[in-house]
Order: sequence, then structure tokens, then C-alpha cells
Amino acid sequence: MSGQYSTLVQHSMSDPDAPMSRSWHYHPELPIPVSPILNWPPKPLAWLKWLSSYWLAVSAVTLEAALAFLVYTWFQPSWEAMAALSPGWVLQIWLRNMVLLILVAGGLHLWFYRYGGQGKRLKFDPRDLVKSNRTFTFRNQVWDNMFWSLASGVTAWTAYEVLYFWAAANGLVPQITFANNPVWFVAWFVLIPIWSSCHFYWVHRLLHWPPLYRLAHALHHRNVNIGPWAGISMHPIETAIYFSSVLIHFVVPSHPVHVIFHLYLQGLNPAFSHSGFDGVWLKDKKRLETGDFFHQLHHRHFECNYGTAELPWDKVFGTFHDGSPEARQRIRERKMRMHAQ
Ligand SMILES: [Zn+2]
Ligand SMILES: [Zn+2]
Repeated sequence: MSGQYSTLVQHSMSDPDAPMSRSWHYHPELPIPVSPILNWPPKPLAWLKWLSSYWLAVSAVTLEAALAFLVYTWFQPSWEAMAALSPGWVLQIWLRNMVLLILVAGGLHLWFYRYGGQGKRLKFDPRDLVKSNRTFTFRNQVWDNMFWSLASGVTAWTAYEVLYFWAAANGLVPQITFANNPVWFVAWFVLIPIWSSCHFYWVHRLLHWPPLYRLAHALHHRNVNIGPWAGISMHPIETAIYFSSVLIHFVVPSHPVHVIFHLYLQGLNPAFSHSGFDGVWLKDKKRLETGDFFHQLHHRHFECNYGTAELPWDKVFGTFHDGSPEARQRIRERKMRMHAQ
């Protein structure tokens, strides 16, 4: 840890609500950790430790998995109904997605921003969300983000979900059950977030190709400082590309719960990772990890951290910003080279 950081950390320990640096009100310990999955030689124990940090805890991922089982058990249309494309069950899927996003993104927004449930404790960016700014639809960041999340995000999410269930009801996709393949049933849950991270890196790099960036991805990047509703606030071209991660279930044998979990990982997880806070602080303790400083750095500096910490391609391809001043300088030089071209 550099001298500058140790001073800042000591400073923040004496007053947990004091800003930790000039750039960030709060940041996790630096450099930010990434999954050891790509380390060579392989370190299986380190990998197990990384996975258990969120699979054996109350985390966004375990909440989404639990939600997938709950929704599949109690709110799933019948296979007979889903064999034909009819408005009834399609609307049911759309409605459950709307309700879930409103509960998760809306709940986090109310806690962190509307009611200031924990003040600025664990908040990354010292600034507030933007009001009265022409960059945003309705000149308001939160309304802009809600509109694009619900209109564009939930529509693409629902379209892929409907396509999958219609295809599954007609026997067009390979399926498994827990009884006929328990090992794959469990393993696939562990692999889905890693696949999702891999897919995200590559499609996100594509979205930063200048013509596609200007056409679609710039809408998501209106948000330099982010809140829960920014998560899937994306142009329809981007949501179509982003949710295509679930097309893998048309090829790889899956249970419907895997698909719902995967869709919640794509649709609900960004509300946590864009919350702008490192966690929910309640009664003197961090109760739930929320923010994702890795992606927060992408929103601040743009040309770094295209993937996630789960499968750190950024480390391999030299675009990793670990939060340190050295990384910041490296990314600044990369941006200057890009603009000089
Ligand atoms: Zn983002
Ligand atoms: Zn981006």
C-alpha cells in the first residue's frame, strides 16, 4: 500500500464518514481484488475462497438464485400455455420482471438516495445524482434511468425470457432436471456468473467501438456518477446485445431455474453494482455488499475495466484500473493514445 493510501485509510478510520481521497468519498482497500481464475499456475484454494465469498453469504448472487427458485415455483405459467405465443403468459412474465426491478432498484434508490438511510457512509462518489441537466431524458438523471431501465431494459429481458420458455415448451432446447443430472445442475449455477462476466467483457468492448458507442452505449455512459437505476438504463440496441448472454441456454443443457437466475443476474445485479455505495450499512455493520468499485471506475474513466472482477480479462489485456494512482496514470495515457489516432 502506498504512503498516500495508508494516510488516507488512517484518516478514515479515525472518522469513518470523512472523505478518503480527493476523488472518492469512500473506496475499498486498494488495489481492488479480482478473481484468481486466470492466475497461472492455477490456485484452486484461492478460487474456492473467492467463490465462497459470495456463494456462502447473503449476497446479490444468492438473493437472485433464491428469487429464481421462488418465482419458478410460484409465479411460472404452465408449459401448456407457453407452447403458444399468447398475450396472457407473456404479460405475466413482463409484469413479474417490472415488479422485481422496481422492488430492487427502487428499494436501493429509496434507501441510499431518497431517505439517505446511511448518509454518505460507504458512498464512492462524493457528488449527488444530477437534476436539471440537459444530458438526461426529462433533464433528470433518476427519471432518465428509470425510463430506459423499464422501457428498454425490461423489454429485452422479457423478450429473451419469453423466447426461451416458448422454445422450451416446444421441446426446442436441451433441458436437464436436478434428478437426472445433479452435478451439472449445481455446477451450472457456479459457472453462469463467470460466463456472464466473459460475455459482458466482449460485448462491452464491442459497444465501445466508436460508431456503436455513439449510437447506443453513450446513453448508459450519461451516468458518470451512478445510482441503482443506472444499472440497465441502456439503449435498446445495447439491451438486445447485453441480454444475449442467456442464448447459451439454447445450446447448453439447462434447467429453467438456471435461465431465470441468469436473467436476474443480467437484469437485477446491475442495480446493486451501480448503487454507488460499497454496501448497505445498518446498525453499525455492513449487512450486504452492493457496489462494484471495479465498474464504478469504468463509469468515471470510461476506457478501462470493460469486464468485471469475476473473469478479469482487463488484467490480461492491459485495461485494468485497480484504483491506484499508477493505474490512473496508465489509463490516462491509454486514453491520450486512443484520441491521438
Ligand atoms: Zn454501467
Ligand atoms: Zn462502457
